[in-house]
Amino acid sequence: MDKNQVLKKYFGYDSFREGQETLIDALLNGQDVFGIMPTGAGKSLCYQVPALLMEGITLVVSPLISLMKDQVGTLNQAGIHAAFLNSSLTAGQYHKALELAKTGRYKIIYVAPERLLLDEFLSFALQVKISMVTVDEAHCVSQWGQDFRPSYLKISEFIRLLPVRPVVSAFTATATSEVREDILAALDLQQPEMVTTGFDRKNLFYTVSTKKDKFAEVINYLAQHPAESGIIYCLTRKTVEEVCGKLLLRGIPATRYHAGLSDKERQQNQDDFLYDISPVMVATNAFGMGIDKSNVRFVIHYNMPKNIESYYQEAGRAGRDGEEATCILLYAPQDVALNQFLIEQEVENEALTEEDMQFVKERDRERLKQMTFYCTTNECLRDFVLRYFGEYTSNYCGKCSNCLTEFVDIDVTKIAQAVIECVKRCGQRFGMTVITETLRGSQSVKLKQNRMVENPCFGKLADVPVFRIRQVIQFLCQKQYLFVTDDKYPVVKLTETSKDVFLQTPVIMKAAKEREHKKKPKETVALGDMDYSLFEKLRKLRMELAKAEHIPPYIVFSDKSLKEMAAKKPKTKEAFLEINGVGENKCQKYGKRFLETIAEKEKSL
Ligand code: ADP
Ligand code: MG
Repeated sequence: MDKNQVLKKYFGYDSFREGQETLIDALLNGQDVFGIMPTGAGKSLCYQVPALLMEGITLVVSPLISLMKDQVGTLNQAGIHAAFLNSSLTAGQYHKALELAKTGRYKIIYVAPERLLLDEFLSFALQVKISMVTVDEAHCVSQWGQDFRPSYLKISEFIRLLPVRPVVSAFTATATSEVREDILAALDLQQPEMVTTGFDRKNLFYTVSTKKDKFAEVINYLAQHPAESGIIYCLTRKTVEEVCGKLLLRGIPATRYHAGLSDKERQQNQDDFLYDISPVMVATNAFGMGIDKSNVRFVIHYNMPKNIESYYQEAGRAGRDGEEATCILLYAPQDVALNQFLIEQEVENEALTEEDMQFVKERDRERLKQMTFYCTTNECLRDFVLRYFGEYTSNYCGKCSNCLTEFVDIDVTKIAQAVIECVKRCGQRFGMTVITETLRGSQSVKLKQNRMVENPCFGKLADVPVFRIRQVIQFLCQKQYLFVTDDKYPVVKLTETSKDVFLQTPVIMKAAKEREHKKKPKETVALGDMDYSLFEKLRKLRMELAKAEHIPPYIVFSDKSLKEMAAKKPKTKEAFLEINGVGENKCQKYGKRFLETIAEKEKSL
């Protein structure tokens, strides 16, 4: 068999996606690889296909139990023998799995990094032929990453202990250069073939909403998209409880996930979500890594997250099946303060010195600033994120709330000049709120204490709404006429170009046209002539089969496969095999039932 046959036979796909072939070919040639590809790009196939073509065993180091379980479940469904070795197994089960592994039962074994150097595992590894070691979520080796795991540092030591060095492959979705450098060094990759694919997720629609009533926004969206599965991320446990409670009161099948729940409850809620029993998950960022649910149709951020890396990763959990999906960020200025508070609270990481810790905090504040810019920009949102990751596009995607909003140019010369003057006159000592309140002429105690009421700019913009003044300050920061410091209490400061605001008049800012109802962009279903009622029937059948086998529905077939079935209505086994995502094993297992359902529906017409 060659790689194309493996792709078709086991995974049911006709062609490789961007980057996959290059990495697979390199691995088959015995070269190390490093794949940097966004969530949902299909990194798993890059090592699973070669693993099946190589002679011995492939070990996959993976950080999370749920991730391993999911992957092994998917492989078993495809008819591939795979197993995982982690702390979820009892000693007996672990021992048995190792025994089977020794007999060559498994081509692919997922292992937790903590296991690698344990005696029993090591002696197993020395007895068998290990052709490849794959490091999934490789950014976990980086101390600068969000998900640093000290045990990942043991991987290279483990590899050195093997009698023959296997080929090593590493994969991550984290694009920043610091993290990349760390991975290359810590895993000791040898002249790896590096592939970085575009970070753009073309099937995702991005929206930022600044409406005051966030909950109403959520309800509105859910009402328009019944029966869809999605995640609502909140910044704190308390908000998770609140939002989930209110959704349940309205009869929406929601569940919740955060670090304050017992292991058991978290597991249960996660399963309910995966199995579509509770299709709406309300969670903190503790939820998600390792959730490969492919039919997540929306990700709503109830609060602005702390940085663009986290946002892109969390939002990226939508639409892994490649179908259209929506990412909504509900922004309120209070989210900035809450994030600042969380940065200050960050617990000391034992691996870091005091100095490093200061460095990390400063970096976090800078990242938060970029995140805030994302929420307040009027430019293309997709372009903003891609530029952040070092990719340059046209600044118009036609598929984000900014590209679809009508903007008007407004003259903000008077406001801009007043802001700059106010910052100057107060000696560059205050943050955005004090500046805004001063310009508005607000009678607050704080202003009196700071003697801002004596500032010559006091009350100068009394007729301008607060939101507009804040918008202009943000705008001036984005254009670098001003900047906000990274301190615990951020202060607005002047820059070298501040005075240009008095020279290069008028100052023009793009602003959304006054509250008009935006037309929701039409969600393009790739398969226009899909039969919706058949799709619903197929979904029911999928649920029934999944329940019987105790696996999540999307492991039976993805939404995308079901949609294709509902459009093409295959009549024969051969036609069924043509559907994307239908491999031989699944065809044999489920083909009959699905073909029957499709035929029944045709008859009833
Ligand atoms: P990643 O690990 O990069 O986030 P996954 O490996 O989990 O992504 O793959 C995401 C989805 O894309 C899976 O449902 C997978 O089956 C699918 N996929 C991967 N490669 C292909 C391909 N060549 N054609 C069609 N679908 C693919
Ligand atoms: Mg993955």
